[in-house]
Amino acid sequence: MVDYQVDGDGVATLAWNVADRPMNVLNEASIGAFAQAVARTIADPAVKGVVVTSARPEFVVGADLDLVRSVKTAEQSMAITAPISRVLRTLERSGKPFVAALNGTALGGGYEIALACHRRIAADDARIQIGLPEVTLGLLPAAGGTQRLPRMIGIRAALPFLLEGRKLAPRQALEAGLVDEVVPAAELLARARAWVLADGPAHAVKPWDAKGFRFPGGTPQAPGPTQLFFGVSGGLLGKTQGLYPAPEAILACLYDGCQVDLDNGLKIEQRQFARLATSAATRNMIRTLFYSMGEANRLADRPKDVPVRKFAKVAVLGAGMMGAGLAHVSAQAGLRVVLLDVQQAAAEKGKAYSQKLLDAQVAKGRLSAGKRDQALALIAPTSDYAALADCDLVIEAVFEDRKVKAEVTRQAEAAMSPGAVFATNTSTLPITSLAEVSVRPAQFVGLHFFSPVEKMPLVEVIRGQQTSEATIAQALDFVKRIRKTPIVVNDCPSFYANRAFAMFPYEAMTMLREGVNPILIENAARMAGMPMPALALTDEISVELLHKALQQARADQGAAYRAQPQDQVLDDMVGKFERIGRKAGKGFYDYPADGRKTLWRGLAEHYPVAAQQPDVEEVRKRLMYAQSLEAARCVAEGIVSVRDADVGSLLGWGFPAALGGAIGYIDTVGAPAFVAECDRLATRHGERYAVPDALRAMAAGGSRYYAV
Ligand code: NAD
Repeated sequence: MVDYQVDGDGVATLAWNVADRPMNVLNEASIGAFAQAVARTIADPAVKGVVVTSARPEFVVGADLDLVRSVKTAEQSMAITAPISRVLRTLERSGKPFVAALNGTALGGGYEIALACHRRIAADDARIQIGLPEVTLGLLPAAGGTQRLPRMIGIRAALPFLLEGRKLAPRQALEAGLVDEVVPAAELLARARAWVLADGPAHAVKPWDAKGFRFPGGTPQAPGPTQLFFGVSGGLLGKTQGLYPAPEAILACLYDGCQVDLDNGLKIEQRQFARLATSAATRNMIRTLFYSMGEANRLADRPKDVPVRKFAKVAVLGAGMMGAGLAHVSAQAGLRVVLLDVQQAAAEKGKAYSQKLLDAQVAKGRLSAGKRDQALALIAPTSDYAALADCDLVIEAVFEDRKVKAEVTRQAEAAMSPGAVFATNTSTLPITSLAEVSVRPAQFVGLHFFSPVEKMPLVEVIRGQQTSEATIAQALDFVKRIRKTPIVVNDCPSFYANRAFAMFPYEAMTMLREGVNPILIENAARMAGMPMPALALTDEISVELLHKALQQARADQGAAYRAQPQDQVLDDMVGKFERIGRKAGKGFYDYPADGRKTLWRGLAEHYPVAAQQPDVEEVRKRLMYAQSLEAARCVAEGIVSVRDADVGSLLGWGFPAALGGAIGYIDTVGAPAFVAECDRLATRHGERYAVPDALRAMAAGGSRYYAV
């Protein structure tokens, strides 16, 4: 786990080499091995100093999350954090100089090892990442990171690294004071050894272990930091709404831990970590953001017997908002792209979108002009279907209109090679119905992207009734190739993400109609942890878009369509009030050109506020339960798996990660309590809250969606 070597000058090298894991991670075995190696260097009088490095491409990427996930009690948590904290304190106070030679990425516990060393030297390689990203998974650096970093660079400078998990490349890390030196990779070890021999002896005591240590920038009680804590804690609560315990725990570590000596600070840190590791929010985040998303990205459910498809050239039909984005992300992945529209000029306009995005990157210095030109040269705008002949995949993104899509499908299939896949990016129309015009429905699949394509990480891969498993596998290969996260969804109107998400704006509109104060609705949505208030979000995606989906459902279902409470609001907003959303400058809000948006005054006239207002908690619950309930229906109907439902809810519409996802939230609340609440809401508000049988049975049987 840790290679041990001592050279003729008495410099020991400890190289991390956790061979039984995909990368160097901290777990019981590797921490034990490191502790033994450290003890050996200290005990050996021949050893003058120690270089800590790695035998693998990365340095150490952090804690083994399998271990963190196994923690059920505070005692178990302490049993994990105390040993690593102890060994780092031991080497720090050994009297021998330790230098971290960061040959590769050092994150979390990896960077904390470096923090305990007396010097940090990194290889000059921009691919290396350095930082403490624990907060992004609901954790905190528990191997001294919350204590040593502020003692080294000051509380103010340490905050963004701890609270936002910012990661830096070596040169930026040098500027920020996270490392002391950056040297060419080939010289790294020699430089580290030379430091041990020449400068090491004079620097083998940390400032905070020396007499007269002055906390850089002052301790939390100093006027500057005190002000800082006031501001930061207020801002933080505004952002997290109290749903995310990790940033709060990190602030507590800083505030409490930086007023005492390091040893006591480390104890405070370990206790705060134990609180997090056993909290529902953190466990939810680790499960969905790390494990479930990891499985989705690795295509864990991909049919195994289908050979991986390599893509060289794809075509995008329709160079509108979605088509232009699709062409862009495909070219960014190095694929040649045919971008087709009715007129050549429209196709060119779609390509111009890519030009705009790439120019902006060049302007910011993130991309060279040469790389931009290379990417742009991959996109070939055209209006000629003959260009589809040698494409591996064709993605249709024309108007959301059955007739237009049917015509485009026919033309494309006539021009495509027999082995190519045809995908539609429809957002609402069932794939099976669109595939009716296809002459090769087994190779017809849904690839539902989200807007803006270049920013949104999720893609729903939708299986029509006749879509073959080979086609699903190849569609997944494509999503992986363009570095997006796929979930696999069975066919139904609006599929999974839009169907479950829509309950959020629908419930808001329903409450508006009932006379609930729109300010209450918006604030409750914010408090629930949704990225935007419900009515504001409806304006953003456009009221018109939801109204079009409604019209489509009415047309498709005819007499069978059952009106919903929000329908009237959508009809009125679009038909009567002509307030179609943000893009028109008027929706549920007014958007003055020169000021901040405000709720439309007309709302009060058309949806008078009732004298009796519900409790904010009731409003919050309705907004969130409506989404989870629809997700539960999708799971019960076999539309989506539990895992994909949660990944989709986080990536597709920003459902709060602390709740685990639309399905994980039901486990977090507890299925029996969730079902009881839905039953109560159903008696008051109708069948929208009807619980699917499978969920009711689960609640009655005391089971959960996820094993604890
Ligand atoms: P858009 O109106 O911006 O673009 C459609 C493009 O298709 C236009 O450039 C148009 O000229 C072109 N087009 C129309 N008929 C054509 C034909 N016969 N042949 C070739 N090109 C033709 O629409 P959009 O927002 O990009 O949506 C495209 C598709 O993606 C729709 O099915 C939509 O439902 C779906 N979608 C949209 C979003 C979104 O947020 N806008 C999200 C997911 C999926």
